[in-house]
Amino acid sequence: MDTKFVKDVQMAGWSIQAVSDDAVIAKCPSAGCNLHAQLKLGAAIPAVDPGCRRDPIDAKVGTYDDIRLALRKRRENLLLTIRELEEVAGLEPDLLAKVERDGTKKIPNVQTLLDWAGALGFEIVLRPAPMTPLALRTIVETRDKSAARTKRMTLENRRRGERARRG
Ligand SMILES: [Zn+2]
Repeated sequence: MDTKFVKDVQMAGWSIQAVSDDAVIAKCPSAGCNLHAQLKLGAAIPAVDPGCRRDPIDAKVGTYDDIRLALRKRRENLLLTIRELEEVAGLEPDLLAKVERDGTKKIPNVQTLLDWAGALGFEIVLRPAPMTPLALRTIVETRDKSAARTKRMTLENRRRGERARRG
């Protein structure tokens, strides 16, 4: 396989699913779309599913276990070893083995998680979603304090800005 070809497949908008000696399995990154293509090394790279909604939502996660299993499956689909992925992600040796294994008590810090996911071609996003009734009620019931809070948050932001400028 040729790195340039794999890069070109990704540049065309495909999500890389698997790479073999002579082909790349690529997937349309759009939400709910299961279109896969086997792209032979050297052949023309087709456009991704032009009719598809360009909304690349793939997996919603609710627990650390959801993330761990998704990232492990991704690593295995790409046939990467733990050691190789640690290297690609810039993680310390053996960290991934500990945080990836079943029943682990070791949960990585957020930066490690971002690096780990990023190395596998995932980004972690905060997407607007409906708030719980408790959240909404709390917001509503604290509006009589909103003037004081606005003032306090403005001050906090100003202080943060001064700190940042001072370095
Ligand atoms: Zn699609």
